[in-house]
Amino acid sequence: MAKRCLIGGNWKCNGTVEQIGKIVQTLNEGGTFPQKSEVVIAVPMLHVKSVQSILRDDIAIAAQDVSRTGMGAFTGEHSAQMLVDSGIKWTLTGHSERRIGFGPGQGESSQTVADKTAAAVAAGMNVIVCIGEQLAEREAGTTMDVCISQLDPVIAALGGNNWGNIVVAYEPVWAIGTGKVATPEQAEETQKQIREYIASKTNADTAAELRIIYGGSVSGASCAGLIACSNIDGFLVGGASLKSEFVDIIKCTE
Ligand code: PGA
Repeated sequence: MAKRCLIGGNWKCNGTVEQIGKIVQTLNEGGTFPQKSEVVIAVPMLHVKSVQSILRDDIAIAAQDVSRTGMGAFTGEHSAQMLVDSGIKWTLTGHSERRIGFGPGQGESSQTVADKTAAAVAAGMNVIVCIGEQLAEREAGTTMDVCISQLDPVIAALGGNNWGNIVVAYEPVWAIGTGKVATPEQAEETQKQIREYIASKTNADTAAELRIIYGGSVSGASCAGLIACSNIDGFLVGGASLKSEFVDIIKCTE
């Protein structure tokens, strides 16, 4: 079967009980999704159980993060084993908001992201590994250096195995939540280079089969131009995944 596009939604830290119910209702009433689109939504952990009980069954639920540890005395963490036990087969790792952190010294290193990715894969999960450069890095021409530095620990941690469980999300930080979507040319150029780099570190088949998705201010208006690019295999959608527009984005593969 041809490679399916992955359309991911990331609700981040959004949604009251009432709002979550409305978003799920919109998705449930969104009609038939194209066979070409595999849909996954990253739900705040607090809402996972309730969303699982009402969400249509052709959308998978992802965690927004996973612990690098197993079960044990790790207050506030959720281990991959616990996620799998609760029916969650997907997780994000390395979202730029986690890499940057929410207070001084709280950001995650690329090694931590790799450890989390490896822990999730070892538990049988599928992982959307997020990478991407900041604006100053793009302007300095170091976009690929940044992406490589974020990818290398993941490549080392996987040791050539389980690439079928991995999706790479290229998310330029300057495009996230800013309304400033990368042009199809910018995203395609970088994603092609990411694929070539992964081919050089694994093999041509692994890289060809890998889904590399784009994230950063994707909207109903911008998705068609992006999905037409040969190295863009789907999206990770933040703000627009909270709106009915997400259904249009899911259907852009038609
Ligand atoms: P955005 O977020 O679509 O709101 O830019 C994307 C993301 O953070 O994954």
